Amino acid sequence: MAVVVLGSINMDLTTYVPRLPAPGETLFGSSFITVPGGKGFNQAVAAGRLGAPTQFIGRVGDDAFGKGVLELVADEPVDISGILVDPDSGTGLAVISVDEAAENAIIVISGANMTHDGREVARTREALQSANVLLLQMESPLETSLAAAQAAQDTGATVIFDPAPAKPLPAEAYQLCHVMTPNELETEVLVGFRPANQTEAAKAAEILLERGVDTAVIKLGAQGVYYQSAAESGFVEPFTVNAIDTVAAGDAFNGGLAVALAEERPLPEAIRWGAAAGALATTKPGASSAMPTRAELEQLLKK
Ligand code: ADP
Repeated sequence: MAVVVLGSINMDLTTYVPRLPAPGETLFGSSFITVPGGKGFNQAVAAGRLGAPTQFIGRVGDDAFGKGVLELVADEPVDISGILVDPDSGTGLAVISVDEAAENAIIVISGANMTHDGREVARTREALQSANVLLLQMESPLETSLAAAQAAQDTGATVIFDPAPAKPLPAEAYQLCHVMTPNELETEVLVGFRPANQTEAAKAAEILLERGVDTAVIKLGAQGVYYQSAAESGFVEPFTVNAIDTVAAGDAFNGGLAVALAEERPLPEAIRWGAAAGALATTKPGASSAMPTRAELEQLLKK
């Protein structure tokens, strides 16, 4: 079956620097790239490249960045007919620095991503007629995301909610989502402590389950992933790769997880798919440009 992603799409302006600048400091960077990004679109590209029929619903501005984004995204295996061009707001932008240790610092200007309204909800509802997984994040209005989650409940699709960037959530958000996938920082915002290891991740997962989530997936970066549902729990060790740029590793994870669940694979296998996709994304520069293909994923999974 298929995947629908409702969320953000940005032009990412990415600089590669020896180290992240200190306040007031000017640094010479080594290179600069512009690639489409936004958590929503990154997750859509990941799902599409990993082989699921994928539709992205979102909004860009009627400006040069929007035109640039639409030209660049036309090459991806993602149905982008659900992108609306908004004459009244600017295209979302992300200004990113990546240092030599693959650490990053990001400033997001939301623009058109935060002007989603009932039109995006209606497009998502329509797309869900032929999909079994809905991916949501927090770079677009929570209100429209929750309305889309309700639409997914109506059609029986699985809702994967990435609570990023983190903000405290209303009770309804936990009840409407099936799988929630916070990283360490996001977990801290949601449950009040930062899980440093598996035991602490299990405690955090327990809290998310009590609030109504079916499956909690705690992404611990280079440490691995902890997951827990009512029926099962486990830890997936990270795949060993040569990480050069961790931007969008979490998005790749969610794309991989979504495709596996759309193919009705069991939860432990779906988590491995996410972890493999996340690891592969760290081996390439950029956000959507770093998303792995199905062939790359299958090769890593064999290891
Ligand atoms: P986010 O981008 O949301 O902070 P993480 O950094 O936790 O997400 O990365 C998401 C997933 O990608 C991790 O849970 C892990 O499976 C994989 N991953 C991230 N960084 C690495 C790494 N350096 N080596 C291997 N796998 C990684």
